[in-house]
Amino acid sequence: MENKINEIRTQAIAEIEASTDLKSLEEAKNKYLSRNSEFNNLKKGMKDLPNDKKPVIGSLLNKVSSELEKLVNEKFELFYIKELNERLLKEKIDVTLDGDYIPQGHVHPLTQTVNEIVEIFGHLGFSLIKPEFSPEVELEKYNFDLLNVPKEHPARDVQDTFYCENMPNVVLRSQTSNAQARQMMNSKPPIKIISPGRVYRNENVSARKNNLFHQIEGLYVDKNVTMGHLKGVLNEFIRLYFGSSRPTRFRSSFFPFTEPSVEIDVQCIMCQGKGCSVCSHTGWLEILGAGMVDPNVLRDVGIDPNVYSGFAFGTGVERLTMLKYAIDDIRLFFNDDVRFLKQF
Ligand SMILES: [Zn+2]
Repeated sequence: MENKINEIRTQAIAEIEASTDLKSLEEAKNKYLSRNSEFNNLKKGMKDLPNDKKPVIGSLLNKVSSELEKLVNEKFELFYIKELNERLLKEKIDVTLDGDYIPQGHVHPLTQTVNEIVEIFGHLGFSLIKPEFSPEVELEKYNFDLLNVPKEHPARDVQDTFYCENMPNVVLRSQTSNAQARQMMNSKPPIKIISPGRVYRNENVSARKNNLFHQIEGLYVDKNVTMGHLKGVLNEFIRLYFGSSRPTRFRSSFFPFTEPSVEIDVQCIMCQGKGCSVCSHTGWLEILGAGMVDPNVLRDVGIDPNVYSGFAFGTGVERLTMLKYAIDDIRLFFNDDVRFLKQF
């Protein structure tokens, strides 16, 4: 028995000493010190020994097993430190390298346009409307009646406007002009406001049209406001938004709530007026609708048209953004495609 133990001891020491790294040390350890090792089997066989042999063999087994464990631990420390140092050398941190790039969100192109327009009109003395005067779910009264839109006008048709189910007088506003009516009913002139927001039309969605889009509406009501003021303000806006060299033209038009009404064109951004598919070969792009507030509209909201006059204008945020950046499909604004959005 003693011989067998010494034989295993010699063999174990040789193998532990011969190990060159943590892996081979682990193998030697398993072979000689694990539960299923030959050495452990000898320990288990102790109970079959004659009683007078037990103390001698027991003490020898304990001595050898402590010796082997001590040896394994020494080797382990050695290899562990060696391998740690090697890894540290290999994985050295280069503090001069660039850090990880963390992508940052930014403002949607439509919001950027709204912010820019609001800022331009801010310089021209217009303040932003209070949100409570500019609701998206609106009574027909503010969306149509108070804006002089006749009862039989096609814009009121369910083909064009979204009506709320079971509430025939409630609509998703089809224009930001509802804010004009609310502002005028709730304040006294001078009124000089700008009102951006979402509007809804019952349209078939295409590259040119979406059933949700954004408008900006402006309103100026005071004593002695004239068409000359309208022209001056809108020309200044176009100069600041598109650049000073861009010619404009005013064409007479019709809107229910303004009289007279005009549409304002800017020279085509794509072809510089030569004519192209974007401007339908006219050289001009329509960008604003405007006009002098109809005296009937003023009267209906409690402002005396004999004392006050005003002008109103409206423009499409998508259209202005599409023209500025040569975007050819309105749906891109609403698809949340990061590849599109991160260009702005
Ligand atoms: Zn053109």
